[in-house]
Amino acid sequence: MPRSAFSFVKATAQLGCLAVIGAALYSCTTRPVERGQATLPGLQGPPVVKVALSRHFPAPAAGAAIAIDGEYRVVSSKSGALLHHGTKLGDATLAANPKGGLALGGREFGERDLRILPAFDGTLKVGDRYYRGTLRAFLSDEGKLLLVNEVPMESYIAGVLGAEMPLDYPRAALEAQAVAARTYALFEIRQAEIDGRAELFHVYDDTRSQVYSGTLRETEKARAVIAATRGVALLSGGRLFCAYFHSTCGGSTEPAHLFFDVPQMSPLSGRPCEYCQGGKWRRWEVSIAKTDLCQRLGVKDVSKLKVAEKAPGIHALRIEAGGRSWNGLEFRLLAGADRLPSTAFEVEDRGANYVFRGTGYGHGVGMCQVGCKGMAELGYEATELLKFYYPGAEVLRVY
Ligand SMILES: [Zn+2]
Repeated sequence: MPRSAFSFVKATAQLGCLAVIGAALYSCTTRPVERGQATLPGLQGPPVVKVALSRHFPAPAAGAAIAIDGEYRVVSSKSGALLHHGTKLGDATLAANPKGGLALGGREFGERDLRILPAFDGTLKVGDRYYRGTLRAFLSDEGKLLLVNEVPMESYIAGVLGAEMPLDYPRAALEAQAVAARTYALFEIRQAEIDGRAELFHVYDDTRSQVYSGTLRETEKARAVIAATRGVALLSGGRLFCAYFHSTCGGSTEPAHLFFDVPQMSPLSGRPCEYCQGGKWRRWEVSIAKTDLCQRLGVKDVSKLKVAEKAPGIHALRIEAGGRSWNGLEFRLLAGADRLPSTAFEVEDRGANYVFRGTGYGHGVGMCQVGCKGMAELGYEATELLKFYYPGAEVLRVY
């Protein structure tokens, strides 16, 4: 995404994507998800996604625990030269040695940039998680060890799907999520190339990008959803866009350009949504002490807190307090996205506290996940869900 005044908002844009609502119907989609094909410049097949493993980016000074259930090779990223071939790696520490090179299990390689290539996909373990693809270990000039999982796009999406949407959601909702996640990731790769960080990494594995948990939630159902949507993405006027999504809009999604630094466009223009009404976040109430709010917002005065301006839907666009003003999304992130479920709220002054009464969960931009569940339960298919939440978008196979 382009640099913006709301970069800190953008950084946690996906907060609230983890929907937590219970069981749903499992319906089978027989018609294909996409309705045609498109060619994107520079994209012949599934790209490799470079995922910064946030718990190891940078890794703690003691290094990272690595294990590989089978054969593996260690190669120099620079020359491609084989540095070591092993048959199995028990819990070993990958660390920077005092002379400035990398070491694995006490074996020093005298290199600052390595790739660990397991012979069998999914046998790589970093910390307590298994990953598909390979691992790049990079020692920065500042002496920080950075770990990046390099994984083909479809395996990446398999690691995102169950982390961003409960896998007991109906099949059509999961297919829509897979397509949105793939679009978001393809857009982020493009952005990383523009920003000049693509040589090292494209995305984070947390809410700064999309939550990615390796093979942790890769079930048979998840794999079937990925296979059914392989290579399918959303385009607007033939171009990728930042396919935002969130848990529950509460009744209306909002135009993305009011909250994020993206151009105004039809698929992200916002729309009423009547399909998330029965969800867990239909109504909520949160009380926050004024002293706590002052601290979180970094101000001394939060008197006369009010929603000064609303977006076209139901979310706060501008919030005022103590003579200061915040964008709604910025306010929520500063106040604590874990405390304030959304910005679709009314506020009441109760002396020492403010009571926020609201609806929905998440930023309210793009696809409403609980709404997708509601639509899927009514028999709508993935393409219909995507065209509902991203009006005017094309659902096409891009590789
Ligand atoms: Zn909704």
